[in-house]
Amino acid sequence: MKRPDATAVQKIWQAASPSVVPNLLRRMNERRLIEAVQAKGPLSRAALVRHTGISPPTVSKLVQSLIQARLLEEVEPQSGSAGRPAKLLRLAGKGVCIVAAVVDLKQCSLAAAGLDGTLREDRVVRFPTPDDYAQLLQTLVDHVRQLASAENAATLALGLCIPGLIDRRRQRVLLSANLHLLDGQRPAADLQRRLNIPVVLLHETDALCLGQRAFGPARGLDDLVLIDAAGGLGMAVMIGGQLLAGYRGLAGEIGHLTVEPHGRPCGCGNVGCLETVASDATLAERVSQRIGQTVNIDQVVEMVRRGTLQVDAELNQTLDYLAIGVAGAVNIFNPAAVLIHGRMFDLCDDAFDRLRASVARRALTPSLAECRILRASGGKLQSAVAATISHLTSVLGPKV
Ligand SMILES: [Zn+2]
Repeated sequence: MKRPDATAVQKIWQAASPSVVPNLLRRMNERRLIEAVQAKGPLSRAALVRHTGISPPTVSKLVQSLIQARLLEEVEPQSGSAGRPAKLLRLAGKGVCIVAAVVDLKQCSLAAAGLDGTLREDRVVRFPTPDDYAQLLQTLVDHVRQLASAENAATLALGLCIPGLIDRRRQRVLLSANLHLLDGQRPAADLQRRLNIPVVLLHETDALCLGQRAFGPARGLDDLVLIDAAGGLGMAVMIGGQLLAGYRGLAGEIGHLTVEPHGRPCGCGNVGCLETVASDATLAERVSQRIGQTVNIDQVVEMVRRGTLQVDAELNQTLDYLAIGVAGAVNIFNPAAVLIHGRMFDLCDDAFDRLRASVARRALTPSLAECRILRASGGKLQSAVAATISHLTSVLGPKV
């Protein structure tokens, strides 16, 4: 396993051009180029000039340096272009890799990927989430080492995606309402010490948001909201291309907004929080109570598809509450798109349309007029890969 240290990206640069220590302007411009390629897909040098406004000679010089640093790679354009088509640039798929890990309530999953973010099933491992923190760390370490040693590439970073409130500045888990073994822990620092590669702690909804922007329907958008209704109810907000963090990095906890003053207890200690009535998990709980058998959302979807279960009442109730959250996000943040992640939309063909109709009744008309309400695509692991790559690009230099 190759083990670059915490400044791996800069060291790779300096090895590529040892006489030149990148200055701030250069680093900011390199970040702009990387972000343009990330947002718009493979681009020619001329397209990079158009998208970034950086001069052609500077683009040419910086691209060469980024290719030498193995962060960008050249690909042949698709056939059919007139004349002599220019080569395209994309994020590197060879030579360097990242590892992304998703810690979920029941299952953990890890994948190695190039900077192009392509996820291959043969580079994915999954295991049941251990019951205690020490065992979780050890299992993650073992799997990261195995994945990294199978890659013929330098591992630049590990991104660790977890549910819960994260103090982004101190990289500490403050509260994981549904996975308490993480409470108060610093898993990124603990894993970095053992693995000797940079490890970044990712909030799962931030990761989903970055995933939608890099690979999903929000590609290229700078103002969007992601609502994850799968386990609890999380929200990530991106404004002007920057994720909203708040003073301690805790912004976006819409799931713990009280909507039922005397409602059911929530994992956070309050009662009647939105996530106790508006998520896949709560829909499955309601169904479980009615049928007298504990079922999760995947089982509910399966039974409905087989025609052995009807859940219209539970679905409509869940969608009504979820619409309150979505309409609130539209009214408060005025995004270009709200993306919603959840399995409840697999229960019937018009479930998402029902949500849209309910949001339209509750949101301010001018705010909703140019806001698209979309179903999120891709899974958490793909999103964790996108978020880890996004973290690397932010290491390159400050945003302009
Ligand atoms: Zn709560």
